[in-house]
Amino acid sequence: MMISIEQAHQLVAAHVQPLSPRRLPLPEAFQAKLAEDVASPFDSPPFDKSTVDGFAIQSADAQLELAIVEQVTAGHTPKHRVAPGVAARLMTGAPLPEGADAVVKIEDCTLTEQGTVIIPHDLRRASAHVLSQGKAFRKGDKVLSHGDRLTPAAIGLLAELGYQSVVAQPPPRIAILPTGDELAAPGAPLRPGEIYNSNGPMLAALISQIGGLPIDLGVAVDDPEDLHSHFLRGLDYDVLLIAGGVSAGVKDLAPGILEELGVQKIFHKIRMRPGKPLWFGKFDHADRTTYVFGLPGNPVSALTTARLFVAPTLASLAGCAYAPPTMRRGRITCEASHRGRRPTYHPFRWSLQQETPSQHDVPGIEPLAWQGSADLAAMARADGWIFLPEGDYDLAAGSLVDVVEIDPRAAIS
Ligand code: AMP
Ligand code: MG
Repeated sequence: MMISIEQAHQLVAAHVQPLSPRRLPLPEAFQAKLAEDVASPFDSPPFDKSTVDGFAIQSADAQLELAIVEQVTAGHTPKHRVAPGVAARLMTGAPLPEGADAVVKIEDCTLTEQGTVIIPHDLRRASAHVLSQGKAFRKGDKVLSHGDRLTPAAIGLLAELGYQSVVAQPPPRIAILPTGDELAAPGAPLRPGEIYNSNGPMLAALISQIGGLPIDLGVAVDDPEDLHSHFLRGLDYDVLLIAGGVSAGVKDLAPGILEELGVQKIFHKIRMRPGKPLWFGKFDHADRTTYVFGLPGNPVSALTTARLFVAPTLASLAGCAYAPPTMRRGRITCEASHRGRRPTYHPFRWSLQQETPSQHDVPGIEPLAWQGSADLAAMARADGWIFLPEGDYDLAAGSLVDVVEIDPRAAIS
């Protein structure tokens, strides 16, 4: 039985649970959601350090010309105390020697032929150019909180604290499996009846754009054993995205094989165009669940259903709320029409036409010429889809419509 788009969203939202947090090596934790509070194990910086190349001195030292007792570079420790009459040459980041309380920039000092340094009195200010221990934060301070998104800066901060791994909600891993006897390997010439595989690279790009980790399972042919073994591998991941083989043809074997494998069907077929054959189910392991989408093989159908249902699923797995794509309002720049019981997602482009002042609040929408679910060229020019509800009707130019933007980047926040 065909269900509505709203029912499909409700069913997916009801079944998808966020992934359990686990310990992730730092390089894998980028963009993940932190699942622990992080307190600093030490002061930052851990020692008083120089912020410039210059000379460490006692700011109250009365002598103008000072002996240079040593040179300290970053990563090394001073061996001598700085006392009146003495300076130490420091490079940026080097620890401040004992006794010193200020650094004077090298540009403000004069080196003599005797190997001493002359430092003007008016530039000797206590704590000048010294970043003191614990200035940024103290040992025990909470520097990151449960739920924080791990941005590049947050990853850098964890590295500063010496962390090699962190407990976080992992980015979902999505296995991608295009199916079909007709799919030729890229680079090989097309034989009669063959086509190249658009769905694999397209879905991998979409998954990366949303913030998931695409896993390439290769391509399966329309053969029960081949599908069975590929599906089994796909169940190792958080989501298995199958493309093709889910509608009503004699070679549409995926639903039967998924059931054989014990994947629980939640729904099959949605009242929408394109995308009617969409299949959704789940497989419960002892400690986690794999969600399975069987997307229609036609590339525009695969992209539309992935944008509508897979993108919010990934957001939900990553610990955000499941949210169907936001609809925006637009005003069509030419007439449009709809026929039939299946609501339609029709490619559009934002209009570049000059709008009259009264229409400024609602952007113009150009419906694109579109030859249906195999026409990826129209999709490649599109900014998204106009949502045309079911029914037989004509819309005059200037009518208000709802649109969904193609860019899913906001899905994980
Ligand atoms: P199916 O859903 O398997 O019946 O496929 C529907 C249509 O999509 C057929 O015309 C297929 O040739 C086409 N198709 C299936 N998989 C792909 C793919 N990976 N890339 C491009 N077209 C595909
Ligand atoms: Mg097929």
